[in-house]
Amino acid sequence: MSDHAEPTGPGPSSDGPGTAAAGPPPALPAVGVPAEQALAEIRALRAADRPTHGGRLFAYVYDPAVPGLDELAGAAHGLSAHVNGLDPTAFPSLLAMENALVGAAATLLGGGPGGGAPEAVGSVTGGGTESLILAVKAARDAHPEIAEPRMVVPVSAHAAFAKAAHYLRVALDPVPVDKVTLRPAVAAVAAAIRPETVLVVCSAPSYAHGVVDPVEEIAAVAARAGVRCHVDACFGGWTLPYLRRLGRPVPAFDFSVDGVTSISVDLHKYAYAPKGVSVLLHRDPALRAPQYFAYADWPGYAMINPVVASTRSGGPIAAAYATLRHLGDAGYLELAGRTLEAVDRLADAVRGVDGLRLLAEPESTVVCFAADDPDLDLFTLVDELTARGWHTQPQMAYADLPASVHLTVTASVAPQAAGFGTDLADAVAAARAAGPVKLPDELLALASSLPPEALTPELVTGLAAGLGLTGGVGLPDRMAPVNTLLDAAPPALRERLLVEFVSLLQRPVY
Ligand SMILES: *Cc1c(COP(=O)(O)O)cnc(C)c1O
Repeated sequence: MSDHAEPTGPGPSSDGPGTAAAGPPPALPAVGVPAEQALAEIRALRAADRPTHGGRLFAYVYDPAVPGLDELAGAAHGLSAHVNGLDPTAFPSLLAMENALVGAAATLLGGGPGGGAPEAVGSVTGGGTESLILAVKAARDAHPEIAEPRMVVPVSAHAAFAKAAHYLRVALDPVPVDKVTLRPAVAAVAAAIRPETVLVVCSAPSYAHGVVDPVEEIAAVAARAGVRCHVDACFGGWTLPYLRRLGRPVPAFDFSVDGVTSISVDLHKYAYAPKGVSVLLHRDPALRAPQYFAYADWPGYAMINPVVASTRSGGPIAAAYATLRHLGDAGYLELAGRTLEAVDRLADAVRGVDGLRLLAEPESTVVCFAADDPDLDLFTLVDELTARGWHTQPQMAYADLPASVHLTVTASVAPQAAGFGTDLADAVAAARAAGPVKLPDELLALASSLPPEALTPELVTGLAAGLGLTGGVGLPDRMAPVNTLLDAAPPALRERLLVEFVSLLQRPVY
């Protein structure tokens, strides 16, 4: 093990993620390395990552490009990293900061004094998924008399609802979305509500397409049935109010709408806080009550958990607090303005290219486009954009919706956006010249017909090797063959394939 005391740690090779070399040394050397070396190893590993800053990565990261903000959030994170959110009486600093964050979110979203929900309360969670799991748990546990609870969820709602349903054994009643408006029909939502329904869901906006569901109408049918209505504003809860102030048409979606019982908003998205903070709001404390878990029937400390995690770092909470305090309302308004400018430029770029069309007119901070020409392969286009330094997110075809490309747009994109149009046109020309990905017919036939349970580890290893996905050493430069194969597979097989692929990647370093 002493060979790991080299002054420079091995990291990914400098020629990009496609050929990323061996990973890090084992995490526990016999004798510890100097602090500087440990940091150098992380830096070397980070070199293979997509760029979190610079406005050219349109998913996963939310970058306001505000000078000094990272340093501030990092310092705040450090101040509270070792504080434990498990016990608010031991660490009142976290309780105070959480209450401040929840108050800010509630005020922004039509709750709090002067809003439609003056008694709104909430919890700080570790992320959007946790907020949604807890919204579902609270709805389920409010009805212990319902043995087999169900929830009504438009198919455009975030996959985290399916995860919540899976974890909590709540059945899902999916409602299709219209292929033009990308919204569910209110009548279809109403028709899906049954006596066992404990929750109706809508999005403001949906992650995939950035469209806002008809919240007023959906909340009304839920209220009429006596069912909770959760508005998933994880993505857009921190921008829609500002977009409205900037003059964009934003329909009512928050606590100003009667019948909306809970709202989620991720601070690690458009509140521009570092990862690990979301807020789940309830219209009143009684609605929140079944969210809590308390347990005193063991010999240890009495446990009272409002959220899924028990021990929780104060780091993300303090970082979010510092970020909100520093940017302030005026800061967010300005950032929303810059983001809109970028959205408009990117959307214009898409409109200006033959063979592409906006899947939805942007009404929030997503630009989503599809190909309307069979000779233009979207997955090849995504690779061509990657080659030009633009990292976009491909979305597979679903029901009667075509495959599409998703762009999450943040304020940092504004200064980059002017260059996008030219690169998009070039990338489209290159994708047309390359032609659609041709996978062997047998492979495509297999993908469309193989029952998921027939997928053996050997078959997956063979497929992965055939597609250039050789476990543990990174991804190929061109993802189009992989995406084409996944796109050909029905969702159930796609899920199994992805699980097996990721399981191949997740192998310990010894
Ligand atoms: C991001 C997102 C989620 C899930 O949030 P995580 O923080 O990734 O767990 C849920 N809903 C919507 C609309 C989102 O955009």
